[in-house]
This record gives sequence, C-alpha cells and structure tokens, in this order.
Amino acid sequence: MRLSRTFLPILKETPKEAEIVSHRLMLRAGLIRQEAAGIYAWLPFGLRVLRKIEQIVREEQNRAGAQELLMPTIQPADLWRESGRYDAYGKEMLRIADRHEREMLYGPTNEEMITDIFRASVRSYKDLPMNLYHIQWKFRDEVRPRFGIMRGREFLMKDAYSFDLDKEGARHAYNRMFVAYLRTFARMGLQAIPMRADTGPIGGDMSHEFIILASTGESEVFCDKAILDLPIPGEDTDFDSDLTPVIDAWTTPYAATDEMHDASAYEAVAEDARMSARGIEVGHIFYFGTKYSEPMGAKVAGPDGVEVPVHMGSYGVGVSRLLGAIIEAHHDEAGIKWPASVAPFHVGLINLKPGDAESDAACADLERQLTAAGIEVLVDDVDTRAGAKFATMDLIGLPWQLIVGPRGLKEGVVEIKNRASGERSTVSPQEAVTRLV
Ligand code: ATP
Ligand code: MG
Ligand code: MG
Ligand code: MG
Repeated sequence: MRLSRTFLPILKETPKEAEIVSHRLMLRAGLIRQEAAGIYAWLPFGLRVLRKIEQIVREEQNRAGAQELLMPTIQPADLWRESGRYDAYGKEMLRIADRHEREMLYGPTNEEMITDIFRASVRSYKDLPMNLYHIQWKFRDEVRPRFGIMRGREFLMKDAYSFDLDKEGARHAYNRMFVAYLRTFARMGLQAIPMRADTGPIGGDMSHEFIILASTGESEVFCDKAILDLPIPGEDTDFDSDLTPVIDAWTTPYAATDEMHDASAYEAVAEDARMSARGIEVGHIFYFGTKYSEPMGAKVAGPDGVEVPVHMGSYGVGVSRLLGAIIEAHHDEAGIKWPASVAPFHVGLINLKPGDAESDAACADLERQLTAAGIEVLVDDVDTRAGAKFATMDLIGLPWQLIVGPRGLKEGVVEIKNRASGERSTVSPQEAVTRLV
C-alpha cells in the first residue's frame, strides 16, 4: 500500500476537545472522525485495527466452543416487553417508530433476541451446552459520551450467550469464557485483570469485569499485585476439560472494582502487594440463571423428560473500546506504538528520496519480498522532508520502520527501527527482510 494513495487524514494540531491521550491520538493519527456526539466514522486505518481486534476476539470465541451468528441492530419492542425490560431500561435505549407506528429500538444488548432465537428451535438438553455470539454495533444513549470511542453511543460489542441445563453446566460455560477472555486480551498486548463484579439479585460469584489498568480509566479498582504475574492459559487449553483450577488461580488474589470493594479483605493483603488504581472495563461476563428464559419460556426437556427453563449467561467484549484501551497502554510522546497483532500495517517502509531511481527500486524490491512473506507494508512514497516522514511514522505507530535512502544504499545498507523500543540498526536490505519475516 502506498501512502501517497492512502486516505490518512493526519491532524497537525492536537484536537482541543480530546481529554485523554488515546482520543487525541486516534484523531491525530486519522483513525476516526466524530459525526455526532458519541458517534464515529471509522477511517481506513482505524477500521483495519478494529477488524484485527474483532478477528482475535472471534478466534478465541471459536476456540472456546462458541458459535458465531449475526443478529440485527434493530429489534421489536415487544420482545423486550416479554422480559419486562422495555420500560425498565430507561433513556439509554434509543426507541424508534417505523412507518406503521410499530415500536422498535436500536439494540443496546441482545439477551431477549437470543432467547427468542433459542426458544424457537431448541427443545432438548441433548442440544446443550450451546454458546452463541455475534459482533455487532450497539447503541446506548449515554448521558455523557466521552473519551472518543471509549464511551461512545454507537459502539461495537462482541456479546455471547450461553445455554445450559443447570447451574453446574452454566458454571462450566462461564469458566470457558473466563479463559477465552484471558487469552483474547493477552493476544492484543493487554494485561486485563478479572475483577469481581456485582451479580445483582442473582448473587453468587459468577460475574467478572475484565479491567485494563490506566490512569484515565473510569472505574476505581483494587487488587493484589500477585494477580499480575499469573500465566495466561495456552493455545492448547482443552475447553472441555475442567477449567476450575485456572479460574481458582485467577480468582484467589484480591481484585475488585469499587462497587464490590471489601476493605477488610483488601487490608488482609500484604501492604506492599496492595494496588489501588484506575481501570477501563473492556469485558464483562455474567451468569444470570433463568432471568430471561423463565419469563420468555425458553425451556428444554431434561433427561427425565421434564421441561425446565435454561440457565443462561452473557459475555461482552467492548471491541471498539479496545482500540482506546490499547493506545492508552501503548504510546509515547510521539504517538501510538501498536502491538504487532493489531497494527494497521506491520512495516512502514520509508523512502527518503522518492524519485531517486535507486531508492525507488530498492523500496519496490523490499515491498515485494515482505508482501510475499505475508507482511503488511505501508510504503511512504510521499515527497516530503525526512523529519516529517519520521514524525508521521511515529504517530501512526507501525511496529517496524524500514528506512531507505540514497546515502545508505551507496554503502549497501538500510535502517530498521523498532517503534516500541526505539532500537535502530543498520543492516543490508537482505538482512532487514530476514529480521522482519
Ligand atoms: P460501562 O460500565 O463502561 O458503562 P457497561 O457495564 O454498561 O459498561 P456492559 O453492558 O457490561 O457495559 O457491556 C459489555 C462491554 O461493552 C463493556 O465491558 C464495555 O467494554 C463495552 N461498552 C459498554 N458501553 C460502552 C460504550 N458506551 N462505548 C464503548 N464500549 C462500551
Ligand atoms: Mg454502561
Ligand atoms: Mg460497567
Ligand atoms: Mg459491564
């Protein structure tokens, strides 16, 4: 991909309306553009990152045994009357009337709709366990949309819903999602801490929020630092096996948000291991039993032939919010430092002298070799001074920069720079390719 032909509207000035660094950088690096309060257009580079995050979420959901479907964004109000939530949900729900004056809404979440899909075709415990998810836009008319896509009104969420015959089954479903979440966030270069969250009237210990520590986070959190050193479950995790030992390891050290904070339990943690900080909620998993299946009549016949309402859980990931969380965790003064797994391109190939035959040829050759090896390359072929090129490349935060110019080529070398560490080395073009693939 050529920078000269790319739609990348970079801002020179720091936008005044942006209060936190991730919002400022997303605007400056041309990732998003606000169209209305809390409503954003995703520009090409922002969309590339969003898609990569989405794909990691998808792979880990699939690995854990969940199945993807896609529900609509617009829902009929009547479904929500069945669960009793239509009136209860309040002003955060965007209510719409169609041309026949039928009441509709833009979904803020999908418990009702998935329960409707389930009850229409599943009759027996033999079809369980089942976990269905989608990655779809949501709308919540937040009182105070802010921090860019971090608290948008329209935002992309992955929401999964599990169905089991009983609470034991539901616990296993919950554990699978717990492990899937640990893996998902780690693959994006994030350290997400599962923290006890409020379960509401159902009670019990089956609700966790996954929190990224960041000074700009909206939640106040408390934890035992021991949780930061726990190993992430591997790719080879058997999701059909008993995952209780993993969950126990991750739920033993103290970790809670302010709503669930228990000061005496926290003070029992060694003083130098206590950490009170701010955090960003990037995921939330929840067991809610028969809260929707009961009123909506989602029942299956058990082994004894008796029909019972299914036990359900729901599992959300803030896919679009994750862009902000990743930038909060990976940036410096000069700009974004994307982790390789979500970067819009892997390598920024900087041609210091476009138009110079030798430089053009060397860049074309490097681009061809890297692309053939599956590396995504953005070639800066714009005719500007070197300083501006470096500043742009640092701002957009591709993990590697490969710098090619006539002076180096005379000596048979190019420069390679790692954006995250700042480390530079001067190597032959061939060696550069070897290092990058
Ligand atoms: P918050 O406490 O930030 O308002 P929530 O608890 O209301 O979030 P959930 O209903 O648990 O959100 O939704 C699942 C996930 O969707 C959240 O963990 C969060 O990552 C994401 N999310 C929720 N609201 C927004 C929003 N307004 N903008 C972007 N992402 C959001
Ligand atoms: Mg909310
Ligand atoms: Mg919350
Ligand atoms: Mg939540």
